[in-house]
Amino acid sequence: MEDHKEKVCLFCKRDENQVPLVQVDYKGHNYYICPQHIPVLIHDPGQLEGILPGAENMQAG
Ligand SMILES: [Zn+2]
Repeated sequence: MEDHKEKVCLFCKRDENQVPLVQVDYKGHNYYICPQHIPVLIHDPGQLEGILPGAENMQAG
């Protein structure tokens, strides 16, 4: 399992000292996302295209 280097939110790049970060395991990688951006991951994952590989194929919840 390969760790994603930066422990920052995928979207806003804030780190764990600025916001609580939630770990996201995806395709063998660890990513982090802040509570403010979790709804994006749930409802509009297409926005993750270019950030998460294969995000354009993820289904909105
Ligand atoms: Zn964020």
